[in-house]
Amino acid sequence: MPGFELWSDAERKELMDVVESGILMRYGFDAQRKGHWKAKELEQAICDRFGARHAQLVSSGTAALTTAMAALGIGAGDEVIMPSFTFVASFEAVLSTGAVPVLVDVDETLTLNPAAVRAAITPKTKCVMPVHMCGSMADMDALQAICKEHKLLLLEDACQSIGAAYKGKSLGTIGDAGTFSFDFVKTMTCGEGGVVMTNREDVYTKCDAFSDHGHDHKGVDRGADLHPFLGYNFRISELHAAVGLAQVRRVDEFLAIQKTNHAALKGFLSSVPQVSFRQLPDAEGDSCTFLSWFLPTEELTRSVVAELKAQGILGGNFYWYDNNWHYIRKWDHLKNATALYPLNEAQRTALLHLREQDFSASDAVMGRCISTSISLLWTEEQVKEKGEKIVAAINKALKNAAVPSQN
Ligand SMILES: *Cc1c(COP(=O)(O)O)cnc(C)c1O
Repeated sequence: MPGFELWSDAERKELMDVVESGILMRYGFDAQRKGHWKAKELEQAICDRFGARHAQLVSSGTAALTTAMAALGIGAGDEVIMPSFTFVASFEAVLSTGAVPVLVDVDETLTLNPAAVRAAITPKTKCVMPVHMCGSMADMDALQAICKEHKLLLLEDACQSIGAAYKGKSLGTIGDAGTFSFDFVKTMTCGEGGVVMTNREDVYTKCDAFSDHGHDHKGVDRGADLHPFLGYNFRISELHAAVGLAQVRRVDEFLAIQKTNHAALKGFLSSVPQVSFRQLPDAEGDSCTFLSWFLPTEELTRSVVAELKAQGILGGNFYWYDNNWHYIRKWDHLKNATALYPLNEAQRTALLHLREQDFSASDAVMGRCISTSISLLWTEEQVKEKGEKIVAAINKALKNAAVPSQN
């Protein structure tokens, strides 16, 4: 999955340009920066590689989501529909704008179930936010149709799916806006960083200013810029952008390795008839950062997890159902509305309501799912060993389940 695994002289060289000039900031200091504009270059490279008309770099994927929502005009009183399986950043960003996160069920795509989205629409719904989890995509045709019909904004959280595509278009470039994260464990990294991509010029112009205190960036002197609206500081540094610039040039190399290792591992797991795989609305477009697979029941899945653990090979195999970061079941801080500061009343009410909401449809999916992360460093021999060990663990669990209990 992560680009950090292949750290190289390419990243060191880009960094050294910045270290030597000493200009660590992306704006200004034109005379001293020796022609290095890493953030600008990275934005152009992102537009070129992923086919977005505009790209605005920011300090993290979370900041990218917040910036995108601000630019789309999402705020107090608005509802944003998002999935029950994601990373905590998705709802953090919604809450930071004053809006209400409305969590709905996922299906075997591991992303938004379009029928659940439809059922959650109210007069307050402003935006649908699919999260393209674990390297692969939501059903974008269905979600676009819903957004069009109900005049809703579509914001793609593609933070985990850099380089994945749906019907030939890069994830993150299909909706009104989309985001990538370049944190340390994402497909390409800046160390920390993120980007908003959009084909809408109005959205881009707002992102550009919002992420730098509302500076309109129209003059030659940033200090004399006007502030057409309130902003914030979500700037990326040149140091971080330099790393990303080297990584974006290597992203196809990373994706090719992921695809090879993913296909090899899938070959092993496919030999077990009881194993099924994540549904992919466009299998061609999978970025293959993870192989996500299902067993027929939660009980069997738990015994496979226990078996993997007993053999010391659980690392890299994620059982999201029990995970604190990714699934509604363990988000007690969210469900109890535990914040350091007063939330607005609509947010508080909605969060406390999550405790009673029925997520059994999501549970039925996530309780049976294991995602195996795909390393860029595996040798063919190591994939084989991993595949055989996982298959052996599954077969052992299946055999134990088939034997009637003695007591
Ligand atoms: C990583 C991630 C983010 C946030 O990215 P950061 O750069 O870590 O802030 C948002 N959404 C999802 C689904 C992620 O995996």
